[in-house]
Amino acid sequence: METTVKERIFDRYYIPKPIYDVVEYIAGWARKFSIWPVHFVTGCCSPEFMQVSGSRFDMERLGILPFASVRQTDCLMIVGVISRKMGERVKYLYDQMGEPKYVVSVGACPTGKGPFHDSYSVVRADELVPVDVYIPGCPPRPEAIIQGMMLLQEKIKREVKIGARRG
Ligand code: SF4
Repeated sequence: METTVKERIFDRYYIPKPIYDVVEYIAGWARKFSIWPVHFVTGCCSPEFMQVSGSRFDMERLGILPFASVRQTDCLMIVGVISRKMGERVKYLYDQMGEPKYVVSVGACPTGKGPFHDSYSVVRADELVPVDVYIPGCPPRPEAIIQGMMLLQEKIKREVKIGARRG
């Protein structure tokens, strides 16, 4: 069974719980404001996603910096429609990311197939990978994307264990 960072630290050193709690709080706070999402943009939601990186909405002011290398990122933003064939790439990207990692489904298509709900070839994001935040809309407004990322920040802050996802 895989051990968490917390378990490894406790195995080696004695750390009083109050000190550990403070360290854990600081680590959660730092992780909350340093999300590096890799973006998997396949559909017409992309102009809205571009806007959140622009000067008007400016996602970077929240510490969220889109990054193009999956091994250095901790969040996968799935933006737009995913076909069954493309789904293999989504899983491939997700598997390359280190723990802890999060997934945000942006728009009606990855959340519930959107206008392609009766298509034979379109899949939902949660059929492929575990999704942490769903952002509705077709397309979602940039404000909705920002709010979804703020919800993810709250989730990260509340996580109790370092290096382990909350169930
Ligand atoms: S949710 Fe709407 S805007 Fe976004 S990719 Fe699907 S059809 Fe296009």
